[in-house]
Amino acid sequence: MGGIGTPRLEVKYQRPTRGACAQSEFLSGTVEVDKQMISFLKRCGRFVSEFKGFGICHSCGRRSCFRFRKNMEKWLTDLSFLWDCSERLKNDLRLRENYFCVRCNSSVRVRMHAKAVLDYLHLASDHELLAKFKNEANFKIYEAAKHQLFKSPTFKHISSYVTSEYYDQASPGDYVDGVRHEDLERLTFPNDSFDVVITSDVLEHVADLKKVVAETLRVLKPSGVHIFTIPVDKDLPHSRERAIRLENGEIQNLREEIIHGDPNRSRGALAFRDFGMDVAEYFQKLGVHLKTISLPNIHGDSHSNVDVYLYQKTC
Ligand SMILES: [Zn+2]
Repeated sequence: MGGIGTPRLEVKYQRPTRGACAQSEFLSGTVEVDKQMISFLKRCGRFVSEFKGFGICHSCGRRSCFRFRKNMEKWLTDLSFLWDCSERLKNDLRLRENYFCVRCNSSVRVRMHAKAVLDYLHLASDHELLAKFKNEANFKIYEAAKHQLFKSPTFKHISSYVTSEYYDQASPGDYVDGVRHEDLERLTFPNDSFDVVITSDVLEHVADLKKVVAETLRVLKPSGVHIFTIPVDKDLPHSRERAIRLENGEIQNLREEIIHGDPNRSRGALAFRDFGMDVAEYFQKLGVHLKTISLPNIHGDSHSNVDVYLYQKTC
C-alpha cells in the first residue's frame, strides 16, 4: 500500500540492558514499523469488524465466510443519495448488494439467486448442477452475464451453459474479447433452446421489456423458466417508467435520470423503470405469470429477504 513519497512511521523505544547496571542504563534504538504492516493490521481489524458468519456459498460451492463491506455500503449510499425512490428501497439495496463471500466475492443477492436456480432444479449444490450438465446432453442454461451466478471455473468449459454480456457498438452474436454479445431484445439463439434463462438485475435497464419477455419465451423450451432478480420498491404501489426509447432510437427521460453501477461501462446503466408492489400485475400485462421466491439472508445479520422471480413458458 505504501508507495513512493509515503512517509514511513518511526516508533522510538528504549530497551533495558541486562546485568548489574540495568536499572540506570538503557540502550535506545529505533524500530521502523513498515507502513504495509500497519495497513495489513488495519485490514485484519476491518475484516474482523465486518465479519458476519460462516456457511456454504451457493455461488462458488465452497465453505466460506461472509463480510459486510462498509465501503460498499457507503458507495451505494452516495450513489443513491439523489434517487427519487423510497428510503426503504435504498436500504434494501444496501443489504442485498453486500455480505460478500470472501472466496468468490459474490453478494448475498447473487448467492440467493444461485440458490433459487438450484432449488428450482432440485439440486443441492453447484456440483450437482455440473453433474446434470454431464449426464443430460440436452440440458441448457443461458445466463445474460459472464458467469455471475456460479463461480466455479468448470462452468466456463461447459458449452451448454451459455453466457453473454451486452456491449455497446457490437452486433448480436459477436464476440468481444472472447465474450459473446447478446441483446435481450433480439437474441440470436434458435427457438426452444434453453431450459433456464437467467438475468440478474437487468430487466430494469432494458428499453423494451415486452420484447425481452417475448424473446426469452421464444428461446426457452416448453416448460422452461426465466429466473431473475430485479430491484422492487416495496413502498412504491405502482411500477412506473422512468425513460422510454423513441422510434428514432433516442432516449427520452420521463423522470430524473437514475444510473446504476455497471461493471462493463464506466458511465453506468440507465434505469428505464421502477418496479413497485404491483410487479406481478406488471408482468401479467406482458403475458407471463410471475412467481416470487423469497429467500432469507442466511449469510448475514440482516433480516431483509432477497426476492427472486420466475415465470415459465407454458406452451
Ligand atoms: Zn463464494
